[in-house]
Formats: sequence, structure tokens, C-alpha cells
Amino acid sequence: MAVYEYEHIGEPCDIGPMFEVTQSIHDDQLTKCPNCGNPVKRLISLVSISCPTGNSGLKDLGFTKLVKRDDGVYENVTARDGESKYMHKGRPETIPHFHKTIKD
Ligand SMILES: [Zn+2]
Repeated sequence: MAVYEYEHIGEPCDIGPMFEVTQSIHDDQLTKCPNCGNPVKRLISLVSISCPTGNSGLKDLGFTKLVKRDDGVYENVTARDGESKYMHKGRPETIPHFHKTIKD
């Protein structure tokens, strides 16, 4: 199981503009808020890692680490072959290959 963050595309409801949902990585991502039914989009988030491991160590462990560089731009400091070094909000082709690297 993993925690995912979602954001209302339009008007937020009682649960706030953003919310977290715990679901299996094999589940389809939500397209509607479970509370109000308005469209939502999934945000990219990372579970915080407490062990002091460098970027190369995280990469070896199968983690992807994103560092925010600008509004909507994240550097993938653990990018592997074929992955985009930078992830841009709204450009799916730049999103890291999470399905290849994260196992339930
Ligand atoms: Zn809602």
C-alpha cells in the first residue's frame, strides 16, 4: 500500500484542496473526489525516508527521489536509463517510471 496525494482540479470541498488516499499501487488512480465527486488529479509524492542514504544508495534500493527545482518542475536525482532527468507538471512523459521501481 502507498499513500497518494490528490488535488481538486476545480473547487475544493470540505476535505480541502488536497487530500491523501492510501491505496495499492495496482489500483487505478482516482479521478473523482471520494467526498464531493468533483474531478481530481493525483500528485506525485514520496514517502519520507528516514535513513541517511545518498542519492545513489536510494537508486540502488529502487527509490526515486524528486527534488523541487521550480514551480511544477522536479529534478529526478535518481533517474535511471531512459528516464527523464526533469519532471514537469502536466507532462506525463517526464514522470519517473514508478511502476518499474516500486513493488507492493
Ligand atoms: Zn472533494
